[in-house]
Amino acid sequence: MTDEVRPERPIGEGPAAEPTAAPPELNAVEEVTAADRMEASQKNVDKMWKFARKFADKSGSFLHPQEEITEFLVIGLAKHIDDLGKPLCPCNFYDDKEKEVATSNFWICPCEEMQKWKYCH
Ligand code: SF4
Repeated sequence: MTDEVRPERPIGEGPAAEPTAAPPELNAVEEVTAADRMEASQKNVDKMWKFARKFADKSGSFLHPQEEITEFLVIGLAKHIDDLGKPLCPCNFYDDKEKEVATSNFWICPCEEMQKWKYCH
């Protein structure tokens, strides 16, 4: 232990910048637009809506009360089926999506977190 007092910010970086805009409301949800809906095939969007509803029923979990949240996920999952052949979770960033689906099932929906903890991002 040391009695040294650490500076709050690294030396030379100056004070934090003042925020230039008000933060978004915590509950604000973007609307799903027609362009968003065009991101994935209707066939796979329908497939993922059916899957999400069925999984929620069977697992005792429930869909997000703000339908836009679920719809964004459904579109992202459907787009990954279109592009990769599997419903890779759209909540994450991947260095290489093809490699991810080829080498792991961890983030294939329903991911292991959902199966174990009933937790969706
Ligand atoms: S966090 Fe899990 S359950 Fe939620 S969309 Fe991603 S893969 Fe599916």
